[in-house]
Amino acid sequence: MREKARTNLRTAIIMLGPPGAGKGTQARLLYETLGFAHISTGDMLRTAIKEDTELGRKAKTLLESGQLVPDELVDAIVEERLRKPDCDYGFILDGYPRTLAQAGTLQGILDRDDVLSIAIGIKTPDEVLVDRLAARWICPNCNRSFSEQLSSGKLKGLCDKCGEKLIHRADDTVEVITERLKVYHEQTEPLIRYYHERKIFVPIDGDQLPAKVFYAIRDVVEEKRVLNRICPKKTQ
Ligand code: ADP
Repeated sequence: MREKARTNLRTAIIMLGPPGAGKGTQARLLYETLGFAHISTGDMLRTAIKEDTELGRKAKTLLESGQLVPDELVDAIVEERLRKPDCDYGFILDGYPRTLAQAGTLQGILDRDDVLSIAIGIKTPDEVLVDRLAARWICPNCNRSFSEQLSSGKLKGLCDKCGEKLIHRADDTVEVITERLKVYHEQTEPLIRYYHERKIFVPIDGDQLPAKVFYAIRDVVEEKRVLNRICPKKTQ
């Protein structure tokens, strides 16, 4: 008997991968093409620090040293963000979840709201990551990132999109990058298995040009959404 296709195609794209893998760049491209909300916990925390809110004061030294912010603080900002109407159609999680406990909290929300979930793992070797992050420039206004290698000639210290002066992120020093990678391997990498067991994990090679990574992710998302229409049980 033909299964009844789900009409609710609210989709969550969970971006997994080490710092510098390109989660933010890819999340932004997906946001611009699919119209899903882009939720970056790193950007939210940096904004809180800039605005000197209570959350920002609690998070500041942790971010600067490459440590994770406590689960309950991050869970709370994500839960609140997911209630906004721009998440109704779909959303991209960039930098969340980062621990198994966060993944459990998120899973509760996704199950409750019957959201189609896809976990994309961007695989990139550590050597590539350290070089990328150390050469990365950030726009403090619109949070875009620029790499010296890819923007040579174009990059004159100003953001391509909004003209703001670019900066280096305080945690993009070799010392803090090394700590962030260690924290990633210890606390976040186990999520690959978590999503693998739930049959929603898709690995993507991140060591190629951003446009190529983007096409690969976009194809996966479109395929899952179409499959979900035809045969919902096979995709969830
Ligand atoms: P990256 O992926 O390059 O490390 P992010 O902008 O995602 O950069 O995160 C920067 C920092 O913000 C992290 O090192 C951590 O201190 C904090 N942070 C972001 N997301 C989370 C999260 N889900 N849980 C705990 N801390 C987080």
